Order: sequence, then structure tokens, then C-alpha cells
Amino acid sequence: MESWQRELKERVTNLDELERFLHLEDEERAWFDSEEERRLPFALTRHYLSLMGDDPASPLRRQAIPRKEEFRFLSYESADPLCEQEYSPLPRLIHRYEDRALFLASDRCALYCRHCFRRHFTGGAGQGDREVKNRKDRRSLFEAAQDAACYLEKRPEIRELLLSGGDPLMLPDGTLFRLIDLFRKHRPDLILRIGTRMPAVLPSRITPVLAREFGRRAPLFVVCQFNHPDEISPPAVEALARLADSGIPILNQSVLLRGVNDDRETLKALSGVLLAARVIPYYLFQGDLAAGTSHLRAPILKGVSIMRSLRQCMSGLATPVYAVDLPGGGGKVSIPLDPVLRVEEREALLPGPDNRLWPYPVED
Ligand SMILES: *Cc1c(COP(=O)(O)O)cnc(C)c1O
Ligand code: SF4
Repeated sequence: MESWQRELKERVTNLDELERFLHLEDEERAWFDSEEERRLPFALTRHYLSLMGDDPASPLRRQAIPRKEEFRFLSYESADPLCEQEYSPLPRLIHRYEDRALFLASDRCALYCRHCFRRHFTGGAGQGDREVKNRKDRRSLFEAAQDAACYLEKRPEIRELLLSGGDPLMLPDGTLFRLIDLFRKHRPDLILRIGTRMPAVLPSRITPVLAREFGRRAPLFVVCQFNHPDEISPPAVEALARLADSGIPILNQSVLLRGVNDDRETLKALSGVLLAARVIPYYLFQGDLAAGTSHLRAPILKGVSIMRSLRQCMSGLATPVYAVDLPGGGGKVSIPLDPVLRVEEREALLPGPDNRLWPYPVED
């Protein structure tokens, strides 16, 4: 067993263990005491715990420790806010855009982010038959991958494949490389993107072997998720250096999170440390309307005002695109910063790629 796999085994996954490390607030303990079944599981790596500190308001703790607010469902929220199931022609495959597709390589994560928008799938919380079946049948991952690879073979207009989840790096090396090679066999020209939160939550997963093997499979991009500068710890910087030294381009996608990074100074510092670690800030996402995440969602108008002010003081390289996945399945659009966003009856109206106006709620 590799050391990262041992660290996975040593994760904190229940209330008793957690209380050995942290003094919990009532709102946090209430989540564990609840009998609600269809919720995102809890798992916390020792690494992330060591960065978190004991303050309940700490930006890292808010991302990792569940609270009872996760049981608050707003009328405009949903379990699958991007309607990914509608865009899923095959099990585990999401094909929403003409030139790129996404394959759900694993439904597990080292740490379950409390803001996860794919919580209908992540952590085995999914209902849909396909996941139940896939969990029962270990071989089904490769069956699904085989079908997806044939789908890609017939559609040369798809140039990029995103491996996502869950976290694809939860798969052991052998499985992961076999998966990549299967897609490459059917489509040697495919540009690969691996979406992972491991550099932030379990940097030891980025082993020298992983970095080297990824480097051999170019063009392959790694897209990570750092939401706060404190997540870019010395082990994270070393993990990113292993990837960069292997020639792998690294991008970052952050989520704008209430009480975590919804202020100008934090986002500015985040971009600074990312660039220093050779990571390009790619997207800053407005929170998706996933059920039970309203306490972590920053208001869209706050995001607009922060981004407007950041634009003045950051380089283009340091400035991510502020974007949102349109609720209801309209796709990703960048959020217009000027002229002023049109707002009607507590709804911000965002022009979609189809030029229709899509509503996004204005929250306080
Ligand atoms: C986000 C996403 C992509 C990638 O979009 P980019 O704007 O190229 O980063 C591809 N497929 C799906 C389904 C997505 O959600
Ligand atoms: S790593 Fe990604 S898929 Fe996993 S819980 Fe976090 S946001 Fe969700």
C-alpha cells in the first residue's frame, strides 16, 4: 500500500473521531446527529485537518465540516442543478458542449467539500440506477469507459475529455493509467484534463510516479481546486512542483464561497500564491444551486463587485474568469461585469450563449 492510501485509511470519518480533534459547535454536531440519509458523506484527511485550526469560522473548516444548514433546501435549489443527467448519453459520460465531454471516473473523494455541487453523484449519494449498478459491479467502470471511448471515436469533433467525479485520483495508479490509455487508444489525438482536489486535500497523492506517468501522457492538463491561500501548504507546493516539473500544465478552479474567500484580499492572495506555484487561475465559479449549499454560496452581486475591483489591481494572468453554470442546464457562461448586471425581482438576468436571459437568484 502506498503512503497516500494509508493516509486515506486514516481519514476522520465520524463524529467520535472528529471530536478528538475539534470542539464542535451545535450546528456542526447536529449534522452528525441527523438521520437524513441522502446527504453528502463526511470524510476529512489528516493533512487538511492540520491546516484547519480550531476556529469554527476558519475558511478551511467551513469547507470541510458539515453543518445542519445542509438540510436547508431552497425552492430554487436542486440535487442536480446543472441537469447533468439530461446531458448524459451513456453511463458516467456527460456531453454538454460540442467539442468536449466529461467522464465521471470515480464517485469518491479524499475529502467531501461541503459545497460540492455534484452531490447527487459524489460519495455514492446518487440515486439513479447507473451508480447503484456501478458500485456493485467493479468491472462496470471499464465497461462504461469502453462505451464512452467508442462514443468519442465516432465523434471526432470532441477534442477534449475531462476526467472528473468525484475525484479521479481516488483510483489507484494502475486503474487510472489503464483508463487514460483506453481513451487514448480509441482517440490518440484527445486532449485530457484531470480535475482533482488532491493537491489541496491529500498532496501525497501526487507521487513522483504519478507526475512522471502523467507527463508521459501529454497533452494532459491537471485542473485543481484551491479556494483559499491557506490550502496551498508546503506539501501542496511540492506536489504542484512535481507536476510542473514533469511538464504538466496546471490550472485552478475556485468556487466563490461565503465566509471562505468572498473578499477581495483573500482572492488576490489566492491568485498570488497560485501563480508562485506555477498554477494559472482559470475559473472562479459562482456557487451552483445545489440543495443544501446556500450557507456557503456568496451572493452573485458580491462576486461581481469583488471581480470589478480585482480587475483593477491584478494582472490578466492572475485574474480568473468569473463564471457560472446556468441553473437548469444552460451551460457555463462568464458573468458580465459591465455594464451593470440586469436585476429584476430579486433575480439577476444573465445572457446565455443562446442570447436568452437566464435567471439567477439574488441572495443577501
Ligand atoms: C465545465 C465543463 C466542461 C469544461 O468547460 P470549460 O469551459 O472548457 O472548462 C466540459 N463539460 C462539462 C459537462 C462541464 O461541466
Ligand atoms: S472534490 Fe469535487 S467532487 Fe469531491 S466533494 Fe469536492 S467538489 Fe465534490
